[in-house]
Parts: sequence; structure tokens; C-alpha cells
Amino acid sequence: MLHLDGTAILIFSDLDGCLLNKNDYSFQSAVPTLDRIRQRQIPLILASSKTEAEMRVLADEMQLRDAPLICENGGTIIWSRSRPPVEGNTTVLGASRDSILRTLAGLKTEFRFTSFQDLQVQGVMEKTGLPRDRALAALNRSSTEPLVWEDEESRIDAFRSALEAQSLTLTRGGRFWHVAGQTDKGYALQQVVNQLASSADRKLTTIAIGDSPIDQHMLDVADYPIAIPWPDGVVHVTLTGKNGRIAPEAGALGWGIAVSQLIAELCSGTENSGQQG
Ligand SMILES: [Mg+2]
Repeated sequence: MLHLDGTAILIFSDLDGCLLNKNDYSFQSAVPTLDRIRQRQIPLILASSKTEAEMRVLADEMQLRDAPLICENGGTIIWSRSRPPVEGNTTVLGASRDSILRTLAGLKTEFRFTSFQDLQVQGVMEKTGLPRDRALAALNRSSTEPLVWEDEESRIDAFRSALEAQSLTLTRGGRFWHVAGQTDKGYALQQVVNQLASSADRKLTTIAIGDSPIDQHMLDVADYPIAIPWPDGVVHVTLTGKNGRIAPEAGALGWGIAVSQLIAELCSGTENSGQQG
């Protein structure tokens, strides 16, 4: 389990369209900021629609220190990626994928959509541009199902109502719609904060970074929400409260600039006085 040595800041970040560029999945522009975060021992908790298998690979590539992973849009929390998949290291907050697939199968006669289960490996590779191993990791799910909506846009509300009747939710991500149980990234953020608060000697300050409506609740419950614009400059989330900010660029570049600035601001007040008690 993560031990909070000295820091009182937790960063929660979406991946696609934020720390990973929308088009090429690159995080290279954010590497200087990732280095800075690591030097300051600030935990970076990735929060994505991606699966545990996908997120473990990315967290390793980014050389993140061990921190929880929020997978499948808050459906699954992995508490430590340095531990193998064992009981107690995984918390499923939403419905199981099996129960979601059963409900979707029953709605096939009424609505036109294609889920990851329907697409299989080849289809997921085509829709996402991911190589085969990553497509397989994307299919290895436990608590959500992404889908491509192929029906009239006007019928999405009826589809959502049918899902809600089964205690499921429907949310729009960057490129897919996501069916899940009664959970989201914001709820998962709160679970992680509650868990880590016990090892911190100060009130935890939370930063959250997102670019899509699926990130909205996570941004709402964070102390310092950062919105990342899409490549066309449009911002697809709303910021409430005085601490919100919009990154000056899209993708990993904007992520790096905005997070570096905020960390510098938050730490400038504590470095002169914070370490003396
Ligand atoms: Mg995103």
C-alpha cells in the first residue's frame, strides 16, 4: 500500500485526451512534468476507462511510483500494481461485466450498437488503432463495457432509461459510450482519498485532470480541477469554484504545462514553512 511520505497532494488523471494525446496516444510532452512529480514524491493516480492490464503497462512506461489505479471508469480500483493480482488488491465498485453483458444482450432487439464483446479483437484493433496485445488487454474487462452507438442520436435517452431500469449507467467518453454500474471516477477518487487519508498527517489536497463528460464528477469533487481542451480547442467539461483552470494546450503538452504550474503554486507556499513541524 502506498505510504504518503511528506506529500499531501494527490493527482488523479484521465489518460486519453489528457496525459495521452488523442491521436497518437503519446505522453512524451508530459515527461518533464512526470519527472518533477516523481522527484516531489507526489502520487499520480491514473483514472481511465482502460482496464487493469492496459493501465499497468502504461504506468510502468511512465515510470510512475506505486499508486492505486482507477480502472474502467471507477468500476475497479487496483490498490498497488507492485503486488500480483491477489484478493484484497482489487475493489470492484460497480456491476460485474457479466451482468452488464446480459443486460445488453437483452437490448439488442430494440437498439443498434456494437459493444467490445461484439467487436472482438480485430474490431477493437480497427476502432482504436491499438496493436493486438493492447486490444486483448482492452477486452480483459471486469466492470464496464464500451460500445459504439449506431442508432439514431435521438434514441440514446431511451437506451439510457432501459439501462437505468437495470441499475446501470451510460456515459459518453472520448470515442465510446460506456455502460457501467452505479459508480464513476469521482466516487472512486473519494474511495482512494478515504483509504490514503489514514497514512497522511495532513489534509490531502486533490488535483484532478479530465477532458470529457465522463470525467466531470471527478473534476467536481477535486480541490483543483484541470480541464484539458480537445485538439480543436473546445472544452467539453465545466469547471465550478475558483480553483478550476483550463490547460493552455490539448493533450500531453497541455497536461504538462497546467500540472507543472499548479504544483509550483501549491508547493511554493509549503516549502518555506511546511517541513518544520
Ligand atoms: Mg479522456
